[in-house]
Amino acid sequence: MLNISSENSPDGIYANSSVHYTPADHAIFRFIAPANALHNELLQIVQFLDGVFKGTLYFMPRITSFRLPNKIKFQRALLGWFTIHQRDLPWRRTSNPYHILVSEMMLQQTQVERVTPKYAEWLEKYPTLDTLADAEIEDVKATWKGLGYNIRPVRLHSIARETVALYDGQLPDNAEGLQQFKGIGRYTAGAVASFAYRQDEPILDTNVRRVLYRVFVGEGILRSGEMERRLWEISARVLPRGQAWEFNSALMDFGATCCMARRPLCEACPMVAFCRWLKNNQ
Ligand code: SF4
Repeated sequence: MLNISSENSPDGIYANSSVHYTPADHAIFRFIAPANALHNELLQIVQFLDGVFKGTLYFMPRITSFRLPNKIKFQRALLGWFTIHQRDLPWRRTSNPYHILVSEMMLQQTQVERVTPKYAEWLEKYPTLDTLADAEIEDVKATWKGLGYNIRPVRLHSIARETVALYDGQLPDNAEGLQQFKGIGRYTAGAVASFAYRQDEPILDTNVRRVLYRVFVGEGILRSGEMERRLWEISARVLPRGQAWEFNSALMDFGATCCMARRPLCEACPMVAFCRWLKNNQ
């Protein structure tokens, strides 16, 4: 008998899932679900395991090592701030996954002001993945000129060719599929999935990392593997379900224009009452 039950925790994290599978012989397996696993993902795992194992299967909720006491306040404050302060950026006016991918690749290590005219020029020349795939690599590199980090146009070109050759010209509509391409890491995949496909995928770039670190952690080494894992988990846990586009955009804008690396605007910040970093540095 296979019996699956699940419920969402109040904070939207999939906190309580259980599967009981009771065949004749009684081996027992325990499975720790990822903190942000969704019900259908759990179901897929169960169905796979059901075909492999004979025994009793328990899904254990993942016990996270830390709490996020001000999560709801943070969500409300950030989304409220975003309604007033959001930036009007060209790639925010489209849901075309290729256009959003181009913007995200260009924005890596490069200022918005430099990216904006180049983004327009690029899309005028290569408006679709097909046109980019058809272009000569030397031409593509020349179009990119001025942005630096010249491996990025090479990667974009090869993503376009692979997408046309293998996926009928359509980029995968999920973060996992996007990460199969060389040149698309976890951040870029999360950005394309949340901005183009409105999926509840977390992001963590330089600005977002700093904001989440300051508000929820406030101490410890920012650039460490352990902190990176923790901040990815925070990014997933603070994301309000169904609002990935707004929330991730807000995180990026807030980090770029309010909670800046040097001289953050704490006096005008809606997180001032619960920001751990501010409390530790007053
Ligand atoms: S209070 Fe200051 S450091 Fe904290 S989130 Fe706001 S701007 Fe950033």
